[in-house]
Amino acid sequence: MYDVNKIRSDFPILSRTVNDKPLVYLDNGASAQKPQVVIDAISHAYSHEYSNVHRGLHYLSNLATDNYESVRGIIAKFLNAGDEDEIVFTSGTTEGINLVAYGWAMPNFEPGDEIILSVMEHHANIVPWHFLRERQGVVIKWVDVDPSGALDPQAVLDAITPKTRLIAVTHVSNVLGTVVDVKAITAGAHAKGVPVLVDGSQAVVHMPVDVADIGCDFYAITGHKLYGPSGSGAIYIKKSRMAQMRPFLGGGDMIREVTKDNVIYNDAPMKFEAGTPGIVQTIGLGVALNYMMGIGMENIAAHEASLRDYTVERLAGLNWVQVQGTTPDKAAIFSITLDGAGHAHDISTILDKKGVAVRAGQHCCGPLMQHLGQTATCRASFGMYNTKAEVDTLIEALELAHDLFA
Ligand code: PMP
Repeated sequence: MYDVNKIRSDFPILSRTVNDKPLVYLDNGASAQKPQVVIDAISHAYSHEYSNVHRGLHYLSNLATDNYESVRGIIAKFLNAGDEDEIVFTSGTTEGINLVAYGWAMPNFEPGDEIILSVMEHHANIVPWHFLRERQGVVIKWVDVDPSGALDPQAVLDAITPKTRLIAVTHVSNVLGTVVDVKAITAGAHAKGVPVLVDGSQAVVHMPVDVADIGCDFYAITGHKLYGPSGSGAIYIKKSRMAQMRPFLGGGDMIREVTKDNVIYNDAPMKFEAGTPGIVQTIGLGVALNYMMGIGMENIAAHEASLRDYTVERLAGLNWVQVQGTTPDKAAIFSITLDGAGHAHDISTILDKKGVAVRAGQHCCGPLMQHLGQTATCRASFGMYNTKAEVDTLIEALELAHDLFA
């Protein structure tokens, strides 16, 4: 039995008020709240077990190293990666995708080579590829979504030409909630020799993810959306792709030996982790992932599916609301606009007065907004601790906004 009240009681912030109203936190797509176990783990690590990692021979350094390094295995288990050495720690998805752009694509791509992106990518999965376009003449090819927000895997595969070097696609859209069939895309792409990078930032929060089953070459995740600390994250990189990569950041930890005229790199994955890392952030992420796995990703997915269905039903009763992204199996992420009722920013300000936290704007998805013909939307994004009663509060707050502006 999924006990949402028990889960809620694990997150101290959920019992606070905002503007004298109980907090209804529906901005999980931007960042999720943290359970007490994660907060305690951070405090414990700094209070009792802190030191720099990898370089000391003293007790605390070894302890911190063990705690930190153990998270590689936790992430590998969470993603079902075959080998924990395929997990590179990052500060988040943005760093992970930049690592692939600088470390793998830049040294291997030629002018005229093509990268395929979907129109619903987050800027984190667009701008690093623009760097390649600007700096070395790589061509970006865009694949649209249909009016429901679905991405047809075949449309992605049809965009492949002999010059295609990479498909980079999100697993779940942070604006529309669309779930992309990345397994079908990967199978079709690999049949033509094209590698696939998946932006898993949103997907891993809402559903079980199995990178071995998907078969992709790169899968990036970010810790702060996973109920873990900001500044933590990871990217799964297939061993064969790691072998084709050169380091992106240079510095301590990623080297074995440095002389005046030579440098010998550390083995992967540490070769790609320069400098003092987010030690405690990563330890906190490990605790967050264990917390999620303890509840069960299938159970979280089922709970959020029921919230999604209830939200769809309640929003359908408001004929002045437009929802962007209407695929039936989407994640519980709702981008909405209101007929003749103010700008998304004004609506979110009114919702905030009712204690309802949502996000307004472009959600770092400029090309998608252009495709949708919207300047901004109001986004309610759900997490494992949200309830149907909170959906009701959202609807009441939207009705208030509509009354005020209509
Ligand atoms: N991709 C998607 C789909 C996202 O939702 C986000 C976060 N909004 C990112 C990438 C970037 O994540 P981060 O800022 O943590 O690097």
